[in-house]
Amino acid sequence: MPKPRNIFSHLSIEMAARASKCDRKRAHHVDAGEYYLAVKARNSTKTYCQHCAREILSSAGNQLSELRTLLERGPNLLFAGLYRDGVPAPLSKKEPPQAAARRVGRLLD
Ligand SMILES: [Zn+2]
Repeated sequence: MPKPRNIFSHLSIEMAARASKCDRKRAHHVDAGEYYLAVKARNSTKTYCQHCAREILSSAGNQLSELRTLLERGPNLLFAGLYRDGVPAPLSKKEPPQAAARRVGRLLD
């Protein structure tokens, strides 16, 4: 059986060769010798300090959990309008995506 595709191949934890700024919050720093989250795109690499990396990975974990739930219970959730394009559907344009995710998450618990 073929190995499952690695959908995280553009992510890695790397050790900084030199000091740099965090790409999420410019006030954050990554010191030389410190580990950081590297997110590689075609022509660039984004650097995230450990604080931001924890938040990004935590959010990604929640998104994975929601995708797993959607995969298992998808047709009902799609029918109920809880998800649109694979993400929790906001009730209105004013509802931030994080709030929609929390609301939909509570309904599924
Ligand atoms: Zn940061």
